[in-house]
Amino acid sequence: MTAEESPPEPAICRACLNQFTIAAETKRPTCPACGRNRIIHHPELYDLHMAHIDCDAFYASVEKRDNPELASKPVIIGGEHRGVVSTACYIARMNGVRSAMPMFKARKLCPDAVIIKPRMKVYQQVGRQIKEKYHALTPLVQPLSIDEAFLDLQGTERLHGMPPAALLARLTTEIEDEIGVSVSVGLAPNKFLAKLASDMNKPRGFTVIGEADTLETLAALPITRIYGIGAKTAQRLKKDGLTKIQQLQQMDEGPLIRRYGETGQRLYRLSRGIDTRSVTTNSKTKSVSSERTLARDLADFTALEDKLWSISDTVAADLKRKQLAGLTITLKLKTSMHRIITRSRTLDAPTQLAEIIFETSRDMLRPLTDGTPYRLIGVGLSHFRPLVEADLPDLVEPKRTKRANVERAMDKLKGRFGKTTIKKGRSLDPKAPKTQKPAKDA
Ligand SMILES: [Mg+2]
Repeated sequence: MTAEESPPEPAICRACLNQFTIAAETKRPTCPACGRNRIIHHPELYDLHMAHIDCDAFYASVEKRDNPELASKPVIIGGEHRGVVSTACYIARMNGVRSAMPMFKARKLCPDAVIIKPRMKVYQQVGRQIKEKYHALTPLVQPLSIDEAFLDLQGTERLHGMPPAALLARLTTEIEDEIGVSVSVGLAPNKFLAKLASDMNKPRGFTVIGEADTLETLAALPITRIYGIGAKTAQRLKKDGLTKIQQLQQMDEGPLIRRYGETGQRLYRLSRGIDTRSVTTNSKTKSVSSERTLARDLADFTALEDKLWSISDTVAADLKRKQLAGLTITLKLKTSMHRIITRSRTLDAPTQLAEIIFETSRDMLRPLTDGTPYRLIGVGLSHFRPLVEADLPDLVEPKRTKRANVERAMDKLKGRFGKTTIKKGRSLDPKAPKTQKPAKDA
């Protein structure tokens, strides 16, 4: 390797998903497996997991999908409310038509345009189909609108057997083939950069911004590309002579904060590509729980504890299937008099393990077994956090780590040989608390 040559870069073929490496300098790379030229490559390709996906000219694409005669024509969606352009297809855009433009102006710029009233119900239906595809990859989906969303794919590689970049490449093809519209993807170290990236090579784009090229990429952009910078702020910055992100990169935080307050801090951080926001899901799954109505009322700690184990196991299996990890564990009891008692405990780190769910809920159960007969017992998990934060090796409690590892190993076996071949974790452990007497403080 000569001094001028960069090390080879990881590359993925968007057409056949072949993963290979190429010299960084390669012009117009082609896939060594299929010969096609839809190649994404970047030194950090396999390190990045934050994605922003945006449909290309969404409403117009749906109309073209449903009416192939429109394929080669300029199409404008809008006109129903206040006579403005809602979406313009890329052909209309080449004529200068833009979203939010008054319709009379759009007609003047593009007299041949086919103007279509929006069919929101159809667009919503397509938007839902696309979102379902996102959720099949990760629970961490944050929709921003009908046609765009953030996806955090951290921790999904093991499950899907390919790195996030390849998963996204496959997803874009699937959406085109199965749903009939195209999307553009941005893959980057954080949300701010991922959203910038998805907009850089539309349509059908796949743009990667890495840590190493963040400053350079941002430097070239106007300040208005920083999210949340409205027209007013932009004007004020312009008055101060600031129009490019590069200028902000050369300024210290102090002066920026003194001059623009909180906005100044944002300008400082975002101009350097610093964005710590995580994906917040609007997922309908706010909690995962399971409960049992008992065949006969139980007051005995050991008897209830036994139920608790199988409930914890059910909840954990559900969490694992849904790829969720919860921070808060809630124990629910219903007395024979139908009074509902709940106790919650928030963990230091989210979990999806039966072992931890069981131990935590058992601790909450103990003081509640004071002779009261119960007719129902249940456990729920809530406050879901990214899987990558879940069940990290616990240095404080090495025993717990060991048991967590056992549970994971058993999950693997269950996956390979089927559930029935593996006995429940607790029954394999001779020291399991099944035989323990209820604690004195019960
Ligand atoms: Mg869009």
